[in-house]
Amino acid sequence: QAKDAGKNCYYIYDVEKDHQRFERFSLGSDLRKAIQNDELVLYYQPQVDAVTHHVVGVEALVRWQHPSAGLLPPDRFIPLAEELDLIVPLGEWVLREACRQMQAWIEVGLPDMKVSVNLAGQQIAHERLIKSVEEALEASGLSPDCLELEVTENFVIRQPEVAIGKLTYLREQGITLAMDDFGTGYSSLSYLKKLPIDRLKIDRSFVKDIGIDRSDESIIKATLAMCHTLGLEVVAEGVETAEQLAFLKDNSCQIIQGYYFSKPLPPEECLQYVLQTAPLKDI
Ligand code: C2E
Ligand code: MG
Ligand code: MG
Ligand code: MG
Repeated sequence: QAKDAGKNCYYIYDVEKDHQRFERFSLGSDLRKAIQNDELVLYYQPQVDAVTHHVVGVEALVRWQHPSAGLLPPDRFIPLAEELDLIVPLGEWVLREACRQMQAWIEVGLPDMKVSVNLAGQQIAHERLIKSVEEALEASGLSPDCLELEVTENFVIRQPEVAIGKLTYLREQGITLAMDDFGTGYSSLSYLKKLPIDRLKIDRSFVKDIGIDRSDESIIKATLAMCHTLGLEVVAEGVETAEQLAFLKDNSCQIIQGYYFSKPLPPEECLQYVLQTAPLKDI
């Protein structure tokens, strides 16, 4: 394609490609060390009750404080970690750190709330999944009631029975399970009945067109109605405006996550946010 567009384009295309290749190569070798060198950090994004606006949980979102490239968002290194077989150790670090942080907050008197941790498909498939979750809870002393695991629709494609078996076991221990990015994957609706989930997170791509695209609004309404029938709680992701919030509240969406309330925050700022918005009796 670029070749056909003429010599200059070909040159630019090639340099860009080389740059990407180099970035992947050097980031890849750095990533191995980053996990040991404590360069990963967790930000936390509040999840808010749609009616009371109190924080009911926080989602842990990993960032990489790279020594020369600065703070890198997960999109820059999670796919690389998956490719290089580093996602399991990375995910275990996230689990341990998220549980440690939430338990520390609970011990300084924060009202009980959940911390949500994203699981990659490879982590679910891996034989260490249950052990690493149990180890993170044990090491931190966090109650399983305070841990939520987020999975995406796509993990069910490979070995669905094995994955479902493990998740069912974790849920029986009191951990909450959420289906992340709902509506963007490949799973069929029939999986919703089979999967041991408590919550569904409506993807931002639907939420962003509230007030703009009637068909996105219909999909959200239908999803909410279905979840209410199935007894699933719904979290709306990527809520940025008062109009989106009002629409979701009117359609009985219970939990809101998005920039309208807060971006993902470093731990100290997240703690401040929770304390400022907590009901008085809890502080
Ligand atoms: P996700 O789990 O769907 O997380 C929500 C993403 O949406 C976060 O991006 C968050 O910052 C962003 N977001 C939240 N509210 C808004 C909003 O109102 N507007 C906009 N424009 N964006 C919003 P982030 O932190 O860059 O994470 C991206 C993805 O990286 C996550 O999507 C998740 O799939 C993955 N990820 C993050 N941390 C981890 C981790 O520890 N393990 C794994 N396996 N994946 C992770
Ligand atoms: Mg998530
Ligand atoms: Mg999501
Ligand atoms: Mg996502």
